[in-house]
Amino acid sequence: MPWALFYPADYSVGAAALGFQYIFERLRLAGVAAERFFASPLPYRSADADTMLERFSVITATVAYEGGIPVFLEWLDSAGIPLLPEERAAGSFPVVGAGGALSYINPLSLSGVCDFIILGDGMEALDYAVECLRSCSSAPRRRLWEKLAGHDEILVPPVDIKDGKLTRNLKTGRSLDLNGDYPLHSVWMTERSAFGKTLLIELQRGCARSCRYCTLPRCFGKMRFRGFDIIENALSDICGRFEVPQVGLVTPEAGDYPFLPRLTESIDRKGIAVSFASLRLDRLDEKMIETLAGGGRRSITVAPETGSERLRFSCGKNFTNELITEKLSLARSHGIDRVKLYFMIGLPGETDEDISAITALCRSVICETGQSLTLSVNPFIPKPGTAWENEFFAGKHAVRQKYEKIKKEIRTIAKKTPQLRLTGVKEAQEEFSLAWCGFEESRKLARDPHGGAADADAAGREMLKEELGRIA
Ligand code: SF4
Repeated sequence: MPWALFYPADYSVGAAALGFQYIFERLRLAGVAAERFFASPLPYRSADADTMLERFSVITATVAYEGGIPVFLEWLDSAGIPLLPEERAAGSFPVVGAGGALSYINPLSLSGVCDFIILGDGMEALDYAVECLRSCSSAPRRRLWEKLAGHDEILVPPVDIKDGKLTRNLKTGRSLDLNGDYPLHSVWMTERSAFGKTLLIELQRGCARSCRYCTLPRCFGKMRFRGFDIIENALSDICGRFEVPQVGLVTPEAGDYPFLPRLTESIDRKGIAVSFASLRLDRLDEKMIETLAGGGRRSITVAPETGSERLRFSCGKNFTNELITEKLSLARSHGIDRVKLYFMIGLPGETDEDISAITALCRSVICETGQSLTLSVNPFIPKPGTAWENEFFAGKHAVRQKYEKIKKEIRTIAKKTPQLRLTGVKEAQEEFSLAWCGFEESRKLARDPHGGAADADAAGREMLKEELGRIA
């Protein structure tokens, strides 16, 4: 069964997406002729065999976040594939499906376009979808839809949504046993990945912390760890067969993984460099810093989120500015002289003083450590399923004003002025609209993929929350 597996970003980004690699591997093991497609450099030719998209009868996308939706739609549209399921059915066009991290949060944002959406972890549901697609390959499309709708972790919009409302209760897969017979690492490594040639290993899913803006605690299920022995065995096996220059440990917060010291020691002994997908400052210890520096790393990325302690604590990140400076000084003493800091603006309860606190924190880090700083500043986007889902997006005008203030203030740091990377205001507004996109809005996008999503108003958000409440 020819199956086009699309990642709605450049090859380098898709090659660094572990979930996408899992699906590719799973389909191949199931005997499916899956080939990978990326938004660039060659959008309509597979990265595997240069096969043209028109040869594929099934197309699915792995959508990690809202920004992937318009990319997916425009890609399908430019390939001449109708975006509405009934139009594809009428013309014998490919079946279109989706899955990925966005399906844990708001699968309805893709519901106007897809024939099916796999919800959550998705491994068994994917096997079921493969069976349905095989057995219904020459059946009418409605027969396929009805069969797919026999699984409660697969949303089939043409069957499950009537008059804009879900007609059955569904489930999001959130309990995959990470120690079961499932993939746990990259299935390909390439220099062309955003992380370079790195073996990605997933240590943990879910997060037991409760940062109020984050989708992890409520949407991705309870915290699950992969056992040390399973990882160690897989690692030894791969290292015996391939050259592995670097291992990337994929986890919401590396410091929460209980076997981290044993694992980093073992990787160290094999002479392999280590990188962490995410480092929470309060869990960053000397051993982790030594591990990074020992592998030749001279830079580190951390997320204080705000310069103001009051605001940081209100987000659910309970660490002080003093602790940030202390940890970065420790990193500096191990030769790490470049730091990327993630900040959010437009947070609930934020004042002008809180914005100024960003520059004050940077100034004190530079004074204490002499490190070169790069700031990534992103507007807060309230997402469904978070503790702050009822909060508001600050809006384009306010975000621009806050950016101007930061730009002006950061220039007052005369020596080692930090570099600023500001998320586009238009992109942030679009992300907010797409985050709250329900079935009707998704249909509108399918009819006009270049038109953009409508602004999310309070009534629309309430309706969406009600519908999402039917997906446990
Ligand atoms: S921001 Fe990090 S620590 Fe906080 S809930 Fe999300 S994943 Fe967990």
